[in-house]
Amino acid sequence: MSLEFTLSSPEPSTTAAEDKVHDVVIIGSGPAGFAAALYTSRAHLDTIVITGHELGGQVAATWEVDNYPGFPDGVTGPELVEKMQKHAERFGARFEMDQITAIDLSKRPFTLTGNVGTYAAKAVIVATGASPRKLNVPGEKELTGRGVSYCATCDGYFFQDKEIAVVGGGDSALEEALFLTRYAQVTIIHRRDELRAGPTMQKRARENEKIRFVWDSVVEEIIGDTAVRAVRLRNVKTGELSDLTVDGAFIVIGHPPNTQLFAGQLEMDQRGYLETDRRMRSNVQGVWVAGEAGDPDFRQVITSAGMGAAAAIEAQRWLAGQE
Ligand code: NAP
Repeated sequence: MSLEFTLSSPEPSTTAAEDKVHDVVIIGSGPAGFAAALYTSRAHLDTIVITGHELGGQVAATWEVDNYPGFPDGVTGPELVEKMQKHAERFGARFEMDQITAIDLSKRPFTLTGNVGTYAAKAVIVATGASPRKLNVPGEKELTGRGVSYCATCDGYFFQDKEIAVVGGGDSALEEALFLTRYAQVTIIHRRDELRAGPTMQKRARENEKIRFVWDSVVEEIIGDTAVRAVRLRNVKTGELSDLTVDGAFIVIGHPPNTQLFAGQLEMDQRGYLETDRRMRSNVQGVWVAGEAGDPDFRQVITSAGMGAAAAIEAQRWLAGQE
């Protein structure tokens, strides 16, 4: 991430009615958004969280979080989300079930337009997170919800005693595969002969007798009609094509950041991660970035929450200086 860039300073605008201007609008309701909301509301700032499509973001679809401090026995994703929301609400943060579709950061107060409402904000914290990457192969879109899935904890239950393919070789793919062994036999399809996942997850997956691996292979097509029947594989070393009969295909190949909304307004790298300095500031004064929207490196619940808290502290200081 670049640590030095010139902050642009939007001109004050007289267009938005002052009584409708929130101190802080937080876009996104993952751990970064919740933590930011907790800190800004506890600092007595009028705080609105725009939740996006899914309250809680990715962690809401996580079966178990066992690396968040304070939960020695682990905690389910939904339970953690519920606790984080309650915690922020206790200090007055309000949550709007809305999706922002347009944003104007060129003048202050900033204007955010959603499917449900329009919001004016003195300060914005972007916590839009990341979403599952698609394979973009024939059959994927058509069979989504009919055997193609991006979330084992959401859909695994529907595959009792079935055969499932999991595509990907990272920690998430292995975690999803391990979860799916509760229900099904799992084949992990990876495009190399070496996993990207860390040693702990690798060991668990390799030792699980319900998991087998297909190496050096990519999915060319997902075959099915009313349901998934097979995945067509191409061995990248030999070029050989083969069909693997499965009832489900879980695609777990990374999570690009949800930052398209800010194109042309906030600086981002080639992969779409928003640029910040070490104080979570974006290139626009009054706008901070927290969590996976600006984090290609850590992407953990704890790190996202930490960034949310840091962004909120900075926003609070900046707003105090504006008065
Ligand atoms: P990731 O580490 O980026 O792994 C993505 C995997 O998908 C890689 O194996 C990659 O293959 C593969 N892939 C990407 N594009 C593909 C395509 N078009 N076709 C086929 N395969 C493709 O992503 P992640 O697993 O979501 O993990 C993200 C971060 O969260 C990581 O830092 C991870 O350590 C962390 N995480 C930690 C835990 C945990 O500690 N319990 C759990 C989940 C995630 P290549 O390897 O060939 O690039």
